Amino acid sequence: MTPNRILSSRRWNLLSRLCPAVLLLSLAVLWPLDQISAQEGEEPIRTLDARAAGNSDRTRFVIDLEKSVEFAAFTLADPYRVVIDVPELDFSEMSENSREGRGLVGTFRFGLIAKGKSRMVLDLTQPVNIDESFVLAPLEGQPARLVFDLVPASRAEFLDGVGKLKSVGSLSNRTPAASVPKLPGRGKTVIVLDPGHGGIDDGAVGSSGVREKDLVLQFTKDVREALKENPNFEVLMTREDDTFISLDERVEFARKKGAQLMVSFHADTVTQAYVRGATVYTLDETASDEVARLLADKENRSDTIAGVELADKPDEVADILIDLARRETKNLSIAFARRLLGDVKPVLKLNKNPRRSADFRVLTAPDVPSVLVELGYLSNTGDAKLLGSASWREKVAGQIAVSIESFFLRVSGRAG
Ligand SMILES: [Zn+2]
Repeated sequence: MTPNRILSSRRWNLLSRLCPAVLLLSLAVLWPLDQISAQEGEEPIRTLDARAAGNSDRTRFVIDLEKSVEFAAFTLADPYRVVIDVPELDFSEMSENSREGRGLVGTFRFGLIAKGKSRMVLDLTQPVNIDESFVLAPLEGQPARLVFDLVPASRAEFLDGVGKLKSVGSLSNRTPAASVPKLPGRGKTVIVLDPGHGGIDDGAVGSSGVREKDLVLQFTKDVREALKENPNFEVLMTREDDTFISLDERVEFARKKGAQLMVSFHADTVTQAYVRGATVYTLDETASDEVARLLADKENRSDTIAGVELADKPDEVADILIDLARRETKNLSIAFARRLLGDVKPVLKLNKNPRRSADFRVLTAPDVPSVLVELGYLSNTGDAKLLGSASWREKVAGQIAVSIESFFLRVSGRAG
């Protein structure tokens, strides 16, 4: 069969065949396949790298590109192959020895198939399903990425899908945050709430002698109480009493529990008594030394990142997986921080500049979306009064719980 004939018959089935999950995950703008080609006069898109990672239970195939592209993927049998069609790519920067497969991908090949069109062919070690496929936009010096997750399938399943379009996607200008939700599994969604300080560490102390560690512990319990009513969540706290816990222990706790979100609560003091209002922090990427330190720790390698065991992975494969997990985590953290600020605005006085990033060690989990909420300033009499009020706490904690719930509703809704 010529590629064109395959494509046109497949196109006919496009809407009926695509499962909703693929549609949503790829944020599919359903480009007619003929449009998956470079525009007249457009330069081929530089391909920086392509590689397979993972194992025969799940293999991720990643293509690094200078910018996002539309793609269409389908399978061919005997031998088993996944074919990925993209606009014309410039492969000159790909090294010859970068075509080694791994897991379900035996080898891969690429080239120009028609004017303005390139194709990548993955030669498979066995029948597969394309479980997920998506495009990540370039972000902070990272290239754009085309990602395909392959899982084993039976020969019958594979043959059933042969010649049908498996996935089609385009990112356009959307944020990658929405394209790669870390999905709640079959079990409950684990939320870790982290009251700051504790034990010998009082945190900030207000002029009335009120201590941050006590206020945030009470506040966190209120949030837990509000979330408890939702049977979809398992809500855990890093401390439930006046105990000192190191920042690294808090991060490790969230990771070990498989948290899908970690929210730390604090209250600050500053010398300017007029400063007030809440602030939501995400990790500043210039804090990469800290992240790197955490990841360099060999002990972390025995854990899993994004569901993949890293212990037996060569460094470069582990790096790819960590890098992808970090990007997903960062985007989800920012998405949650934005949502949270919008949701609490009616009940919580916000700082003039309420969305910030900082080098907070407690936010460094590479695979747990994390935010830190400074509820207000104990150095400001207005804030201090509110923080001490049970009715205020209940109202704000309740709204934060609603925000967490709606965030996960949105994330799981996207996955179909
Ligand atoms: Zn604090």
